Amino acid sequence: MSSYAPRIAIVGVAGRMGRTLVNAVQQDPDARLAGGIVAPGSSLVGADLGELAGAGRLGVNATDDPAAIADAFDVLIDFTTPRVTLANLAFCAEYGKAIVIGTTGLSDAELAELDGYRDRVPMVFAPNMSVGVNLTLKLLETAARALGDEGYDIEVSEAHHRHKVDAPSGTALKMGEVVAKALDRDLKGDGVFERVGQCGPRGDKEIGFATVRAGDIVGEHTVMFATEGERIEITHKASSRMTFAKGAVRAARWVASHDRGRYDMQDVLGLKG
Ligand code: NAD
Repeated sequence: MSSYAPRIAIVGVAGRMGRTLVNAVQQDPDARLAGGIVAPGSSLVGADLGELAGAGRLGVNATDDPAAIADAFDVLIDFTTPRVTLANLAFCAEYGKAIVIGTTGLSDAELAELDGYRDRVPMVFAPNMSVGVNLTLKLLETAARALGDEGYDIEVSEAHHRHKVDAPSGTALKMGEVVAKALDRDLKGDGVFERVGQCGPRGDKEIGFATVRAGDIVGEHTVMFATEGERIEITHKASSRMTFAKGAVRAARWVASHDRGRYDMQDVLGLKG
């Protein structure tokens, strides 16, 4: 363990990502598991986090009150729901903590509220924490610049497990935004999120989105650039939640030594500029 291994508490620790995060923190020699927070009144209050995550007894117990363990941790990792995440940002501002946010599906108003904390909390907020996806975003920017205005139609498709509650995925939207920005377009005007019935031919500048929800698919995304005679597809497939969890722990280590501000995984991975 390095001289400064941040102490990490996981919000939503009983969830799919929360349990994976317990294992990811345990496997990282430069991070320490300091706490886990479950939903208020949950029957899992007091449960051993290791037992919850199938990692054996760790001697760290779940609580439903972040304030009760505020002295024990430096960084929160939050993969929950938009309202819970915003409440945790307020908590971090009050208690002087950093936060890594993986929650997706925030509305425009919720995003504005989150952004209001950028001067008060060191935060990493990214709809996808995997290193591979963040590299893919870089590749998409390059591809869009090279191809986009030469008559290539751009379509984004994604597939996730049957329990996912928001659509299109935060990652699909981020991919669309990266492509739109590189081409001076705007998803608000050029994004097409539904085609049904007599919807007519596609417009030249459209960026279309298609969603699949099925079984236990962890997360698959493809951006297609198609024209007469050829098609390029840039695809990322996640086969385990561990890729997101490892990225989140990396972000926690990074943000623990940064000033207040809103950062994303491109900052954490040094992919900007
Ligand atoms: P999940 O439903 O399995 O887990 C969410 C957990 O939060 C649940 O256990 C729930 O009880 C808990 N919770 C609710 N209110 C709480 C509160 N007030 N305090 C503490 N815990 C509370 O969902 P999941 O599959 O783990 O996904 C969670 C979020 O993370 C979703 O928005 C998902 O899209 C997102 N996600 C992001 C990435 C990424 O890389 N950024 C990757 C995977 C999932």
